[in-house]
Amino acid sequence: MSDSYDVIMIGAGPAGYVAALRCAQLGLRTACVDDWLGADGKPALGGTCLNAGCIPSKALLESSELYDSMQHHASRHGIGVNGLTLDVPAMIAKKNTIVRDLTGGIAALFKASQITWIPGRGQLLPGRQVSIALHTGEQQTVSGQHVILATGSRPTALDAAPLQGETIVDSAGALDWDTVPRRLGIIGAGVIGLELGSVWRRLGAEVTLLEAQDLFLAMADRQIASAALKLYGRQGLDIRLGAVVKATQVTGNGIEIQYQDGTGAHLLAVDRLIVAVGRRPCTEGLATPAADLLLDERGFIHVDDNCETNLPEVYAVGDAVRGPMLAHKGSAEGIAVAERIAGQNSEVNYATIPSVIYTHPEIAWVGQSEEALRHAGVAFRSGIFPFAASGRARAIQSSDGMVKVLSDAASDRVLGVHILGAQASELIGQAVIAMEFGASSEDIARTVFAHPTLSEALHEAALAVDNRAIHIGKARSRTTDG
Ligand code: NAD
Repeated sequence: MSDSYDVIMIGAGPAGYVAALRCAQLGLRTACVDDWLGADGKPALGGTCLNAGCIPSKALLESSELYDSMQHHASRHGIGVNGLTLDVPAMIAKKNTIVRDLTGGIAALFKASQITWIPGRGQLLPGRQVSIALHTGEQQTVSGQHVILATGSRPTALDAAPLQGETIVDSAGALDWDTVPRRLGIIGAGVIGLELGSVWRRLGAEVTLLEAQDLFLAMADRQIASAALKLYGRQGLDIRLGAVVKATQVTGNGIEIQYQDGTGAHLLAVDRLIVAVGRRPCTEGLATPAADLLLDERGFIHVDDNCETNLPEVYAVGDAVRGPMLAHKGSAEGIAVAERIAGQNSEVNYATIPSVIYTHPEIAWVGQSEEALRHAGVAFRSGIFPFAASGRARAIQSSDGMVKVLSDAASDRVLGVHILGAQASELIGQAVIAMEFGASSEDIARTVFAHPTLSEALHEAALAVDNRAIHIGKARSRTTDG
């Protein structure tokens, strides 16, 4: 006899644990199976995001930015800092405390919501049964009216750079070093490479990023990406584009990286190396062959627009299915699936999912880029406002970057917003709401924003779409035929 539930989640990252909490709110008897073990060897909820991704990296980004500001920017404010010291183990310990508090918070929410947390590795069997290899070594089988697969993703390995102890690490390993490497190499100048590169650069490492593509941040707006590339360069991030890593060798003196770019073969010597070349779904062995779960050729669980798999009443959400690998996308899918199970008609608006890169300045965007609109043949207008013309940005000494608003040339509906600047991660939320409500650039232009705020740059960019931004001398508006 197996225990039975209304819903069984496999995976307790931001997709699975949020889905579990929503199921419980809706009165469904819910169990959540997860095999994550925290730094202390004990089961921990929250998946990669809380334990080894979003949250710990943001904690270290904050600490390292504070150190960098004290070191390089305090004097601009008339503040002299003498005897500044850096205690990396204390910084890591603070990060670990934040992680422990947050994962413990989810456990408390589970308890209060009467969700059964089963620590162990789950495998889908036919008939919505789930067998679990418990951490205790025992085996348990549970069955559900519905199953939600939310097993997330793990770093993609690179044959040319196999992981090695604390020397060649993936994104998780680079969150736990207790000393600053003198020379740090990073393979991949994507989101993780840039965020972790920023952390260790600010703490004093010489950082070189080797990026295989010729195009920097291919998924971002071109103008924003090239402005960001210059700023990162000024911060000392040495980003080498079109650089394909061929081999690495750990020597007594560090790591030798052989790479090839348009000019030929090169050698780079570093002390430590981060491999950040993307992530792949955790779906190997997730279902027995008899369960007949359909995966695509890259290992993602096949789902339709409503996250339904090929099996009745079996859903999949988050990084293990198509779409951007973003925690908030997974959470949104988890909530929508929970509500659909409860008979509601929920869905996810994939067109308004924001993306953020937490460097300084931050990059954030929602909706379409100019390139995508041109490619689709959509005529659009754009308005740009530089933070250099924002009083608040000047006051906080963070005037790099810009806001760009793209709107449909005929209807003026906002099609995309792209931001490079301080607190872009917070500012983008306003653009997301505007787009969710189908706003036009004129709607944003007619909204009153508090002064002085960074948000005024969004207002001015919307005004600029119609050539009437107040604080820029020359017109920046442009209409582009599709
Ligand atoms: P990514 O896809 O953002 O970047 C990986 C980069 O590595 C790419 O630019 C790729 O061209 C490059 N690359 C691949 N193979 C290479 C090789 N052999 N040599 C040199 N370069 C190579 O992936 P990531 O940075 O590893 O992040 C993984 C996922 O996690 C992404 O989907 C990302 O969106 C997500 N993530 C998001 C956030 C955030 O929202 N702020 C933070 C971290 C991770």
